[in-house]
Amino acid sequence: MPQGICVFDEKLCLRVWNQGFIDALGLPPEIVCEGVHFAELMRIPASRGDCGPGDTEAIVEGLTAEAGKFEAQRFERTHPSGRAYLIQREPLLIDQQPGGFIATYTDISEQRASAEREQLAQKVYTHTPAGIIFTDEEHRILSINPATTQMTGYEAFELVGLTVFGLIDLHGEQARQDFEADLAQRASWQGELDITRKNGKGFPAGTRVNRVDDPQSGLPAHYVWILADITEHKQSEERMRHIAQHDALTGLPNRMALLLRLAQLLPEARRHGWRVAMMFLDLDRFKIINDTLGHQIGDELLREVACRLSRVVRETDFVARLGGDEFVIILPGISSAADAAVVAGKAIATLASPIEANGHELHTSPSIGISVFPDDGPDGDTILKNADTAMYHAKAAGRNNFQFFATEMNLATSERLSIEHKLRHAMSRNELALCFQPQFKAGDITPTGVEALLRWHHPTEGMISPARFIPIAEETGIIVEIGEWVLATACREMKRWIDAGMKPIRIAVNVSARQLRRRDFCETVANALTLSGLPAELLELEITESAVMENPQEAILILQRLGGMGVTLAIDDFGTGYSSLAYLKLFPIDHLKIDRSFVADIETDLNDRAIAFGTIALAHSLGLKVIAEGVETEDQLELLRTNGCDEVQGFLLSKPLSSAAAFSFLHARCPAE
Ligand code: C2E
Ligand code: MG
Ligand code: MG
Repeated sequence: MPQGICVFDEKLCLRVWNQGFIDALGLPPEIVCEGVHFAELMRIPASRGDCGPGDTEAIVEGLTAEAGKFEAQRFERTHPSGRAYLIQREPLLIDQQPGGFIATYTDISEQRASAEREQLAQKVYTHTPAGIIFTDEEHRILSINPATTQMTGYEAFELVGLTVFGLIDLHGEQARQDFEADLAQRASWQGELDITRKNGKGFPAGTRVNRVDDPQSGLPAHYVWILADITEHKQSEERMRHIAQHDALTGLPNRMALLLRLAQLLPEARRHGWRVAMMFLDLDRFKIINDTLGHQIGDELLREVACRLSRVVRETDFVARLGGDEFVIILPGISSAADAAVVAGKAIATLASPIEANGHELHTSPSIGISVFPDDGPDGDTILKNADTAMYHAKAAGRNNFQFFATEMNLATSERLSIEHKLRHAMSRNELALCFQPQFKAGDITPTGVEALLRWHHPTEGMISPARFIPIAEETGIIVEIGEWVLATACREMKRWIDAGMKPIRIAVNVSARQLRRRDFCETVANALTLSGLPAELLELEITESAVMENPQEAILILQRLGGMGVTLAIDDFGTGYSSLAYLKLFPIDHLKIDRSFVADIETDLNDRAIAFGTIALAHSLGLKVIAEGVETEDQLELLRTNGCDEVQGFLLSKPLSSAAAFSFLHARCPAE
């Protein structure tokens, strides 16, 4: 027998027992023997099962009296070991007289624990905020907990007996089959499902289904569905997604959203053979507005631009802000590139009217680059990059316009990159040199000066023209270092020639806008003069119109300081930029150099002639002298001379010469007095 069993006689002495009895009462085995009295055994606290404090004798007396009644009894007792026993006593009748009792001790610890667990489970079932649904093996609802009622609005009686799929939507036959397959294989399923409330409104529920198998047959017996309302979770997820994919300032989609959109759109376009246009739009002059009027006004401008751009496109188009003043518009499914041109035109038009911001009337315009998928690239990255490249060409083409991408643009870009790379080595490898082109008095062709012109002798590519590399040097900033070298070298050469017996004449050095913007430019010039020992009056700096006009106020200050040092100044390429006469008056300039494009056609083109002669008159009225560059023919020289041009420079009189050649040329014509 698994139970403990014992028999006491009518005098309450022990007659029969087994090991289970000793174990159940936790008795020391040496005490247990034939005839031992019930009270003796009860004196051992372990066997009493109640070791609370109190009068031991009284307790034992009570227990003994109870046993001595010889009645059927059934009670439970927990022993100090923690194990619980069901004790059943039956009187023994001998000749109809009570002749003792027989008792069994059944260990009920396990049952008790599982009952407790069940109670706890019941509590959880009732109070958890998760919806719990029990179903039978065919998903017919057996019970639901209160949270399910709260979530769905259905009471238990409305659902019990129905299949759970009336409440929970699995979206189609395929999904249902996958669901069943999962459950069969893994005994559980997890996912997000839509549940329809009693009031008809749906909500998303995080759902977990567990299969409960019958312990005997091993076949599915029940399913437990656990549901959590994840509406809020989904909303905050949606909010996070919105924040991550939108630009906080304008509310437009951002770069990340753009890339996601492309990832979705391009495969679709590829499948259907659609074309997708990508417009890269950059605002002209935004930086100036932002820097001079402040970020707040810059921000307001960007918001208004975002608004206007969104209004010119269709609902299916996509406007994003990449950051700064860069916007992108995607036009899906255009039939030809001309469609994109129309939208680009609209974008330009909508930004043409001034924007009001904080009492300021702001003028901005876009430079737009357009590339088309798949013509201009097989993927989003390439299309975006090419639209960007095209945008740069729009900027170079004078801003406020749009340009379509063309493959040559990238060729130009890669050529630029390679030149930039080589240029960085040119200085250290001594590949740069100066040549010198004399300038003459127009009247008697006596030398008045010489212009230093930069040359790049590349070891494998030969001569690289300054027209090709100077713009790149300017963009990358290398021009600053190069320019310093040019200044120092030019000053040193002229000083050397003078020391070698040549009459001192002016040396002109070209200066780029980038150099002029440097705060230490005046010091650089002063240094070159000090180191070479060349008198300041012999140095002329040639500055292009556009360099000066980039920031006239600042230019005035720098030019005045340079003038103060005794250095003379010339405006180079005059006529090609947009100088304001008002400013020109303020600059301490000595010479205007008429650009050679006007000189070239002076004999045939009446407009060019008018500009050249007008410039001469204008310069004279401002007290400036005029140098005409690019004089190639006698006729040009004659026309210029008779119209009062002061000095001339050009192939007719001398090509740019090497240092040695320039020295002997000039020395022969202007020996020291
Ligand atoms: P620029 O300052 O206007 O220089 C005059 C250019 O016209 C020189 O070209 C010169 O060789 C060329 N030229 C002179 N006479 C004639 C002529 O009769 N006919 C024709 N067709 N051209 C003539 P180059 O040397 O190729 O220089 C081009 C430009 O590169 C220069 O224009 C100047 O803006 C820039 N540059 C040259 N050297 C430097 C330099 O050291 N620093 C900077 N920042 N720019 C430089
Ligand atoms: Mg020049
Ligand atoms: Mg020039």
